[in-house]
Amino acid sequence: MKSIFDNTTFGRFNLKSRIIRSGLWESENESQKNLTQEIFKRYGKLAENNVGIIVTELISMYSHDRFSDYSHYINYPFFIKEFREVTDIAHEFDTPIFAQIGFVNCNVNGKQMIEVNDLEIEDIRKIQTDYVIAAKKVAFAGFDGIQLNIGNNYYLSRVMNPFENQREDEYGGNTFNRVRMIIEIIKLIKQTTNLHIHCKVNLYQDRDDSLEICKILAENCADSLQITKFLSPQYFRKGQSNENMLVDFADNVSKEVSIPVVLGGGWSDMDTIQELINTTDIEYLSMYRPFVKSQSFLTEWMENKHGSSKCKTCNNCYWKKSSVCIIDSED
Ligand code: SF4
Repeated sequence: MKSIFDNTTFGRFNLKSRIIRSGLWESENESQKNLTQEIFKRYGKLAENNVGIIVTELISMYSHDRFSDYSHYINYPFFIKEFREVTDIAHEFDTPIFAQIGFVNCNVNGKQMIEVNDLEIEDIRKIQTDYVIAAKKVAFAGFDGIQLNIGNNYYLSRVMNPFENQREDEYGGNTFNRVRMIIEIIKLIKQTTNLHIHCKVNLYQDRDDSLEICKILAENCADSLQITKFLSPQYFRKGQSNENMLVDFADNVSKEVSIPVVLGGGWSDMDTIQELINTTDIEYLSMYRPFVKSQSFLTEWMENKHGSSKCKTCNNCYWKKSSVCIIDSED
């Protein structure tokens, strides 16, 4: 029987649990610094409490495109210095740590809000170059991997979406062409760094096309995948919850690819997760809000053999300056 706390191999990493900590956003701009002692302490508590991999909060590719006023950005002057401190903390506890990188609006080469169909080749090359530069900074900061956020509504998810990408060149049309720009980014990053490439990718409206996207990524240098959902509820059929569709799809992807697959979304109860990993081919799950509520709950689950997060899933910690629970002070 599989357990959340099995020691498993994920790419070149040995994990302490099957739980991946996802990040949203977090920053405290005090004293001209992006990261504060509070944030370093939170990363320390995460790292010492049996999380499998830590994925950071979003680090925006471009300062003008931060997902919230509080998210980090890659060209922040002290990025390498401050995040080196974070990665050192994680490594002190032998916990791998990935930097989450993404952007929403495409403003490159002096143009604003470029639609996917209007991207010129020089714009694509600029984005790809920016990713390589970002990856080098991530590597210098001591990260083990990079989470390319090409899911939800991030810009590169739109490039892969057949409903948005109607290009007629080699970057549009069939599924491979829509993934080509991302494959090229991954290959370029691999030529210049030793980073594990973890792709956060959508279940889109077209399930077969989504599966094909995952297979193409897996066969073309991605080291692992996280399955998430395209944030348009009208795309999901009536009568079946998003979560069930995501489980079903992640199970399907896990059977079809030979790299680790992580299921995202809303998990909070140990028994439910245990049942999931023992009744499907899903090996890893990601969690975010329970780690906002408590950074040490996994250790409690391990000791008690059961447990449920006290997070009420109210989302009141979203869009705030810090990743802290504001509902009550109980840990
Ligand atoms: S604010 Fe709400 S969603 Fe966020 S951690 Fe607290 S209970 Fe959970």
